[in-house]
Amino acid sequence: MADDALRTDLFIGGTWRPSYSGERFDVTDPGTEEVIATVANGGTVDARAAAEAAAAAQPLWAARPPRERAEILRRSWELLMERADDLARLITLENGKVLAEAKGEITYAAEFFRWFSEEAVRLKGELTTAPGGANKILVMHQPVGVAYLVTPWNFPAAMATRKIAPALAAGCAVVLKPATLTPLTALGIADVLHEAGVPDGVVNVVPGRSASTITAAVLEHERVRKLSFTGSTEVGRMLIEQAAHRVLNVSMELGGNAPFIVLADADLDAAIEGAMIAKMRHNGETCTAANRFYVEAPVAETFAARLAEAMGALPTGHGLTEGNRLGPLVDAATRDKVAELVDGAVAAGAKAVVGGETPTGTGFYYPATVLTGVASDNPILAEEIFGPVAPIVSVADADEAVRLANGTSMGLVAYVYTRDLAKGLRVAEALESGMVGLNKGIVSDPAAPFGGVKESGIGREGGHEGMLDYCETKYIATDW
Ligand code: NAP
Repeated sequence: MADDALRTDLFIGGTWRPSYSGERFDVTDPGTEEVIATVANGGTVDARAAAEAAAAAQPLWAARPPRERAEILRRSWELLMERADDLARLITLENGKVLAEAKGEITYAAEFFRWFSEEAVRLKGELTTAPGGANKILVMHQPVGVAYLVTPWNFPAAMATRKIAPALAAGCAVVLKPATLTPLTALGIADVLHEAGVPDGVVNVVPGRSASTITAAVLEHERVRKLSFTGSTEVGRMLIEQAAHRVLNVSMELGGNAPFIVLADADLDAAIEGAMIAKMRHNGETCTAANRFYVEAPVAETFAARLAEAMGALPTGHGLTEGNRLGPLVDAATRDKVAELVDGAVAAGAKAVVGGETPTGTGFYYPATVLTGVASDNPILAEEIFGPVAPIVSVADADEAVRLANGTSMGLVAYVYTRDLAKGLRVAEALESGMVGLNKGIVSDPAAPFGGVKESGIGREGGHEGMLDYCETKYIATDW
């Protein structure tokens, strides 16, 4: 991307502008620790202006025929794909993931625009007769109103489009606050939307170092009716409390702690292939990352040895260097937390058969690590690792695997490998999670309802459900 095409200002009411305070903050390449850009630091005044711009744009956008909204989203998909190489490079630079995965993220992110362009024109209502026959029940869906979107750094493009696309399809104007570590991709996406014909004020993007300041200013605006958050359970919990004051409609995509169950009859080649995706995709920094491996005893040793071999062979280094498969983690704090978890696991009796030591030098690298001999109460199993670390627990049978898998407050996704489809479906049904990969190491798909149960979230993104998260249901009682 040419430097003059890089967006580093706030995007409010269809214009690029510096922050009211004039302050800016640095964005750093986690592979080199060098500053790659400085971005306008949004604050209270900017956040209010963004909410105001969205509120002003909301009624006209909601009144646009669905087909017109759909066509703008379709054009956004095309444009984002045209700019895939530039934006993927930006993701690698600010997030660290390797370029091939960044390109994959752009394709995935863009697909939300295409999927919801198709959904925009298919929002169905319902007409029934009341059981007593006294009246007709007419049910319709209307846009919830201005939506405030908060996104994390691990998928700087996809977490933004997974919210913006359904919101726009439903007829909502939005204010997006991207993660401080990765604002550049979100600003690039705003540029795409603007060029695709999204009217001024319908999409506003306010990066800033103080997430709580921006959030407080947006949430107190009387026209904001929706909060959609993706990030940690800890912050999500706080935001639910904050949203309660104005009884906002909330959607929460929160942390995970995914179990990866391998039964003795599994196709081990497929299980290793799936594990490599579920564990190593995006440096292990995904909410859907396999976090705990429960493997039936007869195959536990072989599975661990094969996974260690595959993970240990991944070329590690800067994400822009061709051939690298594992990039740096996003920042020092994330890398140090991973190291601390591994050290704690080893102190509790686990053994690092590959990796396990933090490299010295520039960049926030952590090696692919496989831990064996992990007891089922090892503290690492209770935490979201968010790094390239695979703790393997040997279990007696499927019942024990399910019991351990469900023994957490999280419930985003789980993975099961078995050749016995009926058994696999029984296990999938018993698992307390919003999603299950059955002989699949990846579940994310714009056409499927993504989301968690328990403390992993509220609501669904993608699929048919995604747009309903930005709608209110209205019921009209009538008769004729
Ligand atoms: P995070 O610390 O919770 O931050 C997420 C977003 O919330 C960022 O934009 C952050 O802004 C903002 N934020 C932080 N504190 C806030 C506050 N007090 N008020 C308002 N906003 C606040 O999470 P993260 O470390 O970026 O992302 C990793 C987490 O996201 C993991 O737990 C992962 O599982 C989860 N995640 C879940 C899904 C899902 O679909 N379920 C998908 C991806 C990630 P700053 O950047 O300025 O701190």
